[in-house]
Amino acid sequence: MGTKARAGMKQALVIGAGPAGLMAADALARAGLRVVVAEAKPSVGRKFLMAGKSGLNLTKAEASDAFLAAYAEAVPVLCPALEAFGPGSVQDWARGLGQEVFTGSSGRVFPVAMKASPLLRAWLARLSGLGVDIRTRWRWIGVEDGFRFDTPTGVQILRPDVTVLACGGASWARLGSDGRWADLLPDVALAPFQPANMGFAVAWSVHMAGHLGKPVKGIALHAGDAASRGEIVLSAKGIEGGGIYAVSRALREGAPLLLDLAPDLSLSEVAARIARPRGKASLSNHLRKALRMDPVKLALLMECGQPVPRDPAALAGLIKALPVPHAGPLPMDEAISTAGGIRLEALDAGLMIRAMPGVFAAGEMLDWEAPTGGYLITAALATGLWAGQHAALWAQDQGAAAP
Ligand SMILES: Cc1cc2nc3c(=O)[nH]c(=O)nc-3n(C[C@H](O)[C@H](O)[C@H](O)COP(=O)(O)OP(=O)(O)OC[C@H]3O[C@@H](n4cnc5c(N)ncnc54)[C@H](O)[C@@H]3O)c2cc1C
Repeated sequence: MGTKARAGMKQALVIGAGPAGLMAADALARAGLRVVVAEAKPSVGRKFLMAGKSGLNLTKAEASDAFLAAYAEAVPVLCPALEAFGPGSVQDWARGLGQEVFTGSSGRVFPVAMKASPLLRAWLARLSGLGVDIRTRWRWIGVEDGFRFDTPTGVQILRPDVTVLACGGASWARLGSDGRWADLLPDVALAPFQPANMGFAVAWSVHMAGHLGKPVKGIALHAGDAASRGEIVLSAKGIEGGGIYAVSRALREGAPLLLDLAPDLSLSEVAARIARPRGKASLSNHLRKALRMDPVKLALLMECGQPVPRDPAALAGLIKALPVPHAGPLPMDEAISTAGGIRLEALDAGLMIRAMPGVFAAGEMLDWEAPTGGYLITAALATGLWAGQHAALWAQDQGAAAP
């Protein structure tokens, strides 16, 4: 594949240079293979760098059971990879690249630098030292008679000994993960892409105009069995932010959204406070004083709670479980991540695509989803490593390479 390859050296191809692909390349190169990474964009790791803009939540420091539970039904397939490279390994890996990490109060782990660029720079230097050949502007476009690429010098075909696909999910297409790879795998079982960790559209009335763009703090969100105490932001399009992402899967699956505007008070405490004499105060002023409700919470109550009941018990019930009508997820391209992609049953235990011997897959290309909180990057790294290691073993098991 590459002109510098030593005779007998196995040739590996990795497609996609996000965290999953770079990790696979790292593993393959360490195992002694000659590695080419093909990346469609002019530079690597664009979504990883974007994740760095909000601090780069690398992983979550929590007990193994709680950590694995975040991956829900994907656990049986992802578990070996996540146990081999879990939160502790992610932190050691970052430190090994010169990035000290810290754990926030919620267990979320970030690099002290709170960005991705120093880590990515150090990683690329390490990969270069391992001889990994990264080819940018190489877009994979087909698999007929080898892996076909659209490149600055025309169509190129590579026929490696082993391949790891790591083309990401189907959101933030401008950063590279556009999901178009799905058309290139007609013989592989794919689940339709769906947004994950996304906002929801709400058709706000004009009364909300003064509150758009503002964070709503000190609330709880409920959707079916899912609950979150995170912050949300009211945008012109609807509701966005970590609090809604945490319940977004349940909402996507049809559960109604309920806001608790006074999560630190019980229903009876809220009712008792509302029942206090209010004199000549308007209802809004009364609620502001009795429940310390800020203007944005009051606006939400008036927007979504009409007709607002006067009876203290009924009003307390509304404040503790305010239904927010929404018009479904915001566009998938705006989602933090996506569900769907290569079905897990299409893979063997080493993440090789059963229908394509010698072709492995990793990262968000696979059909799993998890909340934000570091679970996404951890699983991208862990599956990249697992696929890379198993791809190397597979290549080495295929007998000596042709000289
Ligand atoms: C705004 C934002 C913030 C985020 N913050 C966090 C966070 O703090 N913590 C966290 O855990 N996760 C976070 N994520 C999610 C995380 O970035 C992704 O889950 C992760 O990058 C997925 O890694 P990946 O390697 O599977 O795919 P990607 O990072 O998407 O990489 C896939 C690569 O494949 C390339 N590619 C695609 N198609 C082709 C093709 N045909 N040919 C060649 N190359 C191709 C793409 O250009 C891309 O470089 C965030 C995401 C966003 C959008």
